[in-house]
Amino acid sequence: MAVTGYAQKSFGWAATDTSGVLSPLHFSRRENGSDDVTIKILYCGVCHSDLHSVKNDWGFTKYPIVPGHEIVGLVTKTGCDVQKFKVGDRVGVGVIVGSCKTCDICQQDLENYCPKVIFTYNSRDQDGTRTYGGYSDIVVVDQHFVLHIPDNLSSDACAPLLCAGITVYSPMKYYGMAEPGKHLGVAGLGGLGHVAVKFGKAFGLKVTVISTSQKKESEAINKLGADSFLVSTDPAQLKAAMGTMDFIIDTIAAVHSLAPLLDLLKMNGKLVTVGLPDKPLELPIFPLVLGRKLVGGSDIGGMKETQEMLDFCGKHNINADIELIHIDYINTAFERLAKSEVRYRFVIDVANSLARN
Ligand code: NAP
Ligand code: ZN
Repeated sequence: MAVTGYAQKSFGWAATDTSGVLSPLHFSRRENGSDDVTIKILYCGVCHSDLHSVKNDWGFTKYPIVPGHEIVGLVTKTGCDVQKFKVGDRVGVGVIVGSCKTCDICQQDLENYCPKVIFTYNSRDQDGTRTYGGYSDIVVVDQHFVLHIPDNLSSDACAPLLCAGITVYSPMKYYGMAEPGKHLGVAGLGGLGHVAVKFGKAFGLKVTVISTSQKKESEAINKLGADSFLVSTDPAQLKAAMGTMDFIIDTIAAVHSLAPLLDLLKMNGKLVTVGLPDKPLELPIFPLVLGRKLVGGSDIGGMKETQEMLDFCGKHNINADIELIHIDYINTAFERLAKSEVRYRFVIDVANSLARN
């Protein structure tokens, strides 16, 4: 299949209907503008949002869709007004590639909440063309939305930080969770959750993983550094842990009950939801009111904070734990992601596997 009419030729993998099955697609991207950089994509992480999007779980997918918003690559072109980057730089691109830059929200460095935010895929770009994501050979991005990657991070394993990393880092900062000694629960040990465990430990917290089965217990403790592990389907374990946590970060991708999570919180505890299930969750009011608890949400992070998060990862040597795959494995990867079977993020070796198509 081909989509034509724009300026730079590009090649990637796209879903064309709600089956969510990906296949090769030739399309085009805008010419490199004065503020843009063109990036040759090396690696791209596979986020559960990619899976929600290709299947139109949220109801606003426009096909064909090229997913991918955890991009690491090399700069191959710079526009005449680009000062931040030069050809050959190793850079990252996350979930957003544009915003109005002038509104009150953008002025607070919160471009991610700008009403005119442009997402890396499935969005309308500044020139009216559609945005296509990182399961592709190149991407053209306004320099403001491009990030520097600290030298000590590996190109493949740091890709998931561009979405999963900032999505858990930002609420930890905003909701005051980064307080040494406090007790953090991480609900859902997937792409977001496993990075949340690493950040929690780097911030000096006690971290408990809240997971649907015992399968990930030994890795959570021995490899990721969690202090304890709670099986959310075991009523006895839940009862024993009631009222012990200061914060919970909820990364669960599917509809689930909030009641057990609220019960795990201490008085004044905070439950912050970052997962985006396709249907509303029921909010039990009694535990909220009687325990003066708080439920909040959070969406990725602004560009300044995303750079801060990457620099923090550089300082603490935090990469994601990944399974590196070739692009032609992507449909199987999506099936395994849907079953929570990935440990803990698939990353596509884009540069090496697209060349074979
Ligand atoms: P993921 O790798 O699939 O991890 C989600 C985890 O949730 C699974 O590993 C599983 O953990 C748990 N889980 C899945 N189904 C469940 C169920 N029915 N009941 C209870 N737990 C269940 O996904 P991800 O990439 O981390 O993304 C998680 C969610 O965050 C997705 O909805 C995604 O769209 C959303 N997201 C939001 C933002 C944002 O800015 N707010 C950014 C990125 C992603 P266990 O195996 O441990 O049970
Ligand atoms: Zn994502």
